[in-house]
Amino acid sequence: MSRTADAIRSADAHSAHNYHPLPIVVTSAEGAWMTDVEGRRYLDMLAGYSALNFGHGNRRLIDAAHAQLERVTLTSRAFHHDRFADFCAELAALCGKEAVLPMNTGAEAVETAIKTARKWGYKVKGVPDGHAKIVVAADNFHGRTTTIVSFSTDHEARDHYGPYTPGFEIVPYGDLTALAHAVTPNTVAVMLEPIQGEAGVLVPPAGYLAGVRELTRERNVLFMADEIQSGLGRTGRTFACEHEGVVPDVYILGKALGGGVVPVSAVVADRDVLGVFRPGEHGSTFGGNPLACAVALEVIAMLRTGEYQQRAAELGDHLHRELNLLVGGGAVTAVRGRGLWAGVDIEPSHGTGREISEKLMELGVLVKDTHGSTIRIAPPLVISKEDLDWGLEQLRSVLAAG
Ligand SMILES: *Cc1c(COP(=O)(O)O)cnc(C)c1O
Repeated sequence: MSRTADAIRSADAHSAHNYHPLPIVVTSAEGAWMTDVEGRRYLDMLAGYSALNFGHGNRRLIDAAHAQLERVTLTSRAFHHDRFADFCAELAALCGKEAVLPMNTGAEAVETAIKTARKWGYKVKGVPDGHAKIVVAADNFHGRTTTIVSFSTDHEARDHYGPYTPGFEIVPYGDLTALAHAVTPNTVAVMLEPIQGEAGVLVPPAGYLAGVRELTRERNVLFMADEIQSGLGRTGRTFACEHEGVVPDVYILGKALGGGVVPVSAVVADRDVLGVFRPGEHGSTFGGNPLACAVALEVIAMLRTGEYQQRAAELGDHLHRELNLLVGGGAVTAVRGRGLWAGVDIEPSHGTGREISEKLMELGVLVKDTHGSTIRIAPPLVISKEDLDWGLEQLRSVLAAG
């Protein structure tokens, strides 16, 4: 039996089957390339759902992690540590905001944003206690906790996890009229992904985010942008909201903030919003730990140069130009996205997204399907143009053969 089959059989025997990974067993990775246990190399065109924006084994991030590992890794928030202030100051500055509340995973940051909005609603806006509403979009993906799946419209993500958390209103994504109708005096926040990643890299209609900003400002409602996947360089800007010149009240960040090294997430907002918390009212044992802060500080320093955003914009233009040439050729029905991020809808007669992903894997390219007929392309921002072109070449050959 091959090492790959052996490792997969063993994993299946001893783990919950809440994922259906492609049949590859990775043993090392560098930049945009991964190597499996058989010694085969693959181009990573998923980048850990954007957690690996700076590539595998990024020297600056690994060095920052190593140096911090030798000093101190965890204090808990019971004590101060010497990387915390810099991390908060630098992240706040990157976001143009005043304060940071660090957590670990994306879902925890979303939960934190929900708690922030509710507390802000009761303590600042004056909503009667227990009546706060948060408006969210259909087809959202904000994480996997019981509260977050309560307002998911994806049956796989939501079914059989009830009873569900109340207090959420779901409106169609991209529809400002529906949003305006859903906002009431008890609405404390509108929470959206500026581009819906899991839904298939859906970019909202032009003017939507600016319209959400205007509406939420007029109605005294917080605009909370879940930039966990869209933020930190992926779309060619630091934040996807920037494409419409929009500054939300609350940024929800994760994934790339930890550089693919450690989980780091955060809620970032001004003091009038994050100031609602008092000691003991929220927290996390690992949130804001020294190792996380050291890696995230390096991530922020890299983003402050602007070179990753520029790279994502330039290579992204190239990616979308090439992908759009495939539309109408029979195999591809639509391409969406921004920067180095694309959802490619495959004509079903050419195979499911999963089948296309498996064929690409055989040619040495790793992507991930979503919602049946879509494949998602999001390589590390450090990918070379030559490698990107090679990956696209493999996609063309799979589609031509199908
Ligand atoms: C991945 C993701 C999350 C959840 O992050 P986890 O770290 O997996 O909990 C939330 N929102 C968006 C938009 C995401 O892409």
